Amino acid sequence: MTDPSDAIEKEKRCPDCGEPLISHPDYRSWCPACDWNVLPKEEEAEELPLYERLYRRLGDRMAADLFKKVAEQHNLTPNVSAARLISILLALSIHVATLLLVILALVLLYVGWPRLPMVLLALLALGIAWLIRPRLTPKPERYLTRADLPALFGLVDRISQQLSAPAVAGIVLTPEFNASYGVGGVPPQPFLKLGLPLLSLLDDQEKVALLSHEIAHGVNGDPTRGFLVGMALESLSWWAYILRPEAIFNSGDGSIQGLLFGLLLVPLMVIMLLLSKLSEAMLRLLLYLLFYDSQRAEYYADRLAADVAGSKAARSLIDTFHYSRLFQTLTHTFVTNNPAASLFDAFKTAADALPQGEIERLRRADQLTQSRLDVTHPPTNFRQEMLARRGEVPPSLTLSTEEADAVATELAAHEAQVHREILDAYEATLYY
Ligand SMILES: [Zn+2]
Ligand SMILES: [Zn+2]
Repeated sequence: MTDPSDAIEKEKRCPDCGEPLISHPDYRSWCPACDWNVLPKEEEAEELPLYERLYRRLGDRMAADLFKKVAEQHNLTPNVSAARLISILLALSIHVATLLLVILALVLLYVGWPRLPMVLLALLALGIAWLIRPRLTPKPERYLTRADLPALFGLVDRISQQLSAPAVAGIVLTPEFNASYGVGGVPPQPFLKLGLPLLSLLDDQEKVALLSHEIAHGVNGDPTRGFLVGMALESLSWWAYILRPEAIFNSGDGSIQGLLFGLLLVPLMVIMLLLSKLSEAMLRLLLYLLFYDSQRAEYYADRLAADVAGSKAARSLIDTFHYSRLFQTLTHTFVTNNPAASLFDAFKTAADALPQGEIERLRRADQLTQSRLDVTHPPTNFRQEMLARRGEVPPSLTLSTEEADAVATELAAHEAQVHREILDAYEATLYY
């Protein structure tokens, strides 16, 4: 675990357990025996609301149970589970609720016409139906096509073909240290979001592994990205958001009329708050039901990525996610010191220079905060373990030097633009 650049200084001992610390002049000192100082103080002290803590603990426990179950299972291909069926029914009932409101409005109009109160009630029902109508996920606002990124799309298409996945319609190069797969537009089409900071650290075969994992989301039966359930999740989060009143009592401009009007609205606000909470509870229930299925889908996507890119690249890709904290630190330095260098070059240099002790600290920091960082993917150590259990798998798709160079050149052409976006976004967070 240590290399010559790490000094386990015998005289520096952990204030908590007395074991020797791992320290390095350029990095945080920490204790490998009890994890003292692995996380910055601010992060450790972060207080969360009770339900949030309970929910996370539940997530941690479920993730561990699930890992045990999935590890014994050879076949990870999607199948119809009871939870899936229940969530589809729940999703349908959400859409039916909208339909019922429209029918109610029509009945009110038919029976009540032309009495004003009935017409108003019908309009109200129509208005609510319009507000809670099923939300389709739109296409990303801006995305790159085959004409913009011929080499990258060439690779993406080869992988899609090999996995029998639907063709990707567009790619968004984002300023995030992350990547994702989503379906949007009418009719729904797949889009990839690829974070340039993450891509900049990957070698050719790791890029193949990342693309394969994301494209595999088109065939792994991830229920949360399916049309019906995906739309229900989208609707529920929207309801929870629009129905939540800003305040139960609002005194308006402070005048007597304002106060009276505010009082009059209190029952309505209470009903809205309850409905908002109900939507949120349904959203959580749905996610809870789908948890097993979506995590199984993630393990399956990892397995498919290993089949395409080889298990070595699939595993080192997952390891690369630990550099996210390094990227945040570096972005902070760039915003405060404004160096002329390229953020991406600097990131690569900093990542290559990390001593083993610091890499291990980043890994442990992620493990300690796993459930906070990523709710959609299983804990990194479980993903690694699952791939390791399967043994060595050779790559079935490799890049020629020309292909790899062409992809790298296309990505490099977008670095300056994304560099700006990263610094702008980071600067914006400093002022809030
Ligand atoms: Zn210690
Ligand atoms: Zn995934």
